[in-house]
Amino acid sequence: MDKHFDTTDCYVIEGKLALPYTYFAGRVGSTFITTIRDKQKIMGVKCNSCNKVFVPPRQTCERCLEDIRDNWVELSNIGEVVNFTVVRYDDKHLSRKAPFALAMVKLDGADTPMVHILEGIDLQEIQIGMKVRAVFAEKSTNTILDIDHFEPV
Ligand SMILES: [Zn+2]
Repeated sequence: MDKHFDTTDCYVIEGKLALPYTYFAGRVGSTFITTIRDKQKIMGVKCNSCNKVFVPPRQTCERCLEDIRDNWVELSNIGEVVNFTVVRYDDKHLSRKAPFALAMVKLDGADTPMVHILEGIDLQEIQIGMKVRAVFAEKSTNTILDIDHFEPV
């Protein structure tokens, strides 16, 4: 407990929980991840009503509410940085040591950006609009980190 926190009139029990769990990404999310893992291809889904291509893919178009889960389209591994931030703190849930960059990358052919790690460039040199490419991981973790990072083209 924080020594500066007065607990004299509090009933407090400290403990530890172990919480095993299994997370299922759903059919659409699973296809997205396993296609990156097995074919090193980034897939999106297209809405045939408004023609928007969503990456990461989703089951339903957020604009038309059309069911788009089966409308797969292959996307380029190259895209454009539409926004970014520099992470300046370490966290055990983050896969990189700070400081590092997270970018919103809109792949060529997509209408929505995906967030991923941007490396291979000085943090001060990152610019909105720059072209970047996906670098696939050599060893699969069966996660979105099967794209290891993006780097400038
Ligand atoms: Zn739509």
